[in-house]
Amino acid sequence: MEPAETQPGRLEKIVRHGDGWTAVGLRGTIDEHAGLTAVTAALRGAVVVLDLGAIARINSVGVRDWMNWLKAVGEGGRRIVLVDCSPAMMDQVNLVRNFTQGAWVDSILAPYFCDRCGLERDERLDPVALRRSGTREAPELSCGKPACDLTFDDIEEGYFAFLDDREPPADLDALRRVIAQARAALGGPLNEVTGGASGDAPPRPPSRTVTAPRPTVLEPLPAAPPRPAETRRAGTELLFLVLLTALGGLLGYLLYLMTTLD
Ligand SMILES: [Zn+2]
Repeated sequence: MEPAETQPGRLEKIVRHGDGWTAVGLRGTIDEHAGLTAVTAALRGAVVVLDLGAIARINSVGVRDWMNWLKAVGEGGRRIVLVDCSPAMMDQVNLVRNFTQGAWVDSILAPYFCDRCGLERDERLDPVALRRSGTREAPELSCGKPACDLTFDDIEEGYFAFLDDREPPADLDALRRVIAQARAALGGPLNEVTGGASGDAPPRPPSRTVTAPRPTVLEPLPAAPPRPAETRRAGTELLFLVLLTALGGLLGYLLYLMTTLD
């Protein structure tokens, strides 16, 4: 029997076929219970499009199994395309050598956060466009409300590190036509992101396993408040003054009582 603390992972697999391609949508957790090899027999055609937008977590066993599976899928010259790589998967793409086993990463999901209204949202980014821009900077986006700014919620240098060794394939346009068909066959993107035409998108997956520390807000608050340490010191001083005043008042009152009693 399984120990009580290991919750069996649930990896939902959706497989669709088209002319020369197979679309596979994966949703949930990739761990020792993922059972990826069950999908292998269902693959047809020369191109496999994997939608990873709803992968919420992947653990170390999952990473190993995933790489072995991907390698097996690619054997025999099959082409693998990864779309909507979720933040959980992107952490591994950037961290683990050969995590993609040479697969083409056609789109990624990037975590965005609005400091003002607290909105968290994954946004789809195009690695080709990012590469062409020549920078490793996440584009600035809007959360839709006036005066709000949606900012990239990870470390750009790390999140976009994978761009360095990705040369777009020569037949990118043709490949993207296949990807569009595969996406449509899966019923739209598995993860709700802006730009995705998904009216009845499934709920977002829970937070990912590997969470990068949220970057600390460095910009000062409006009206240039004193530094936290100073504020704390000022607070202590104020408390001390209040106590001193109260003590003085009490002492005065006692003196008054003493004088009046005499
Ligand atoms: Zn906002």
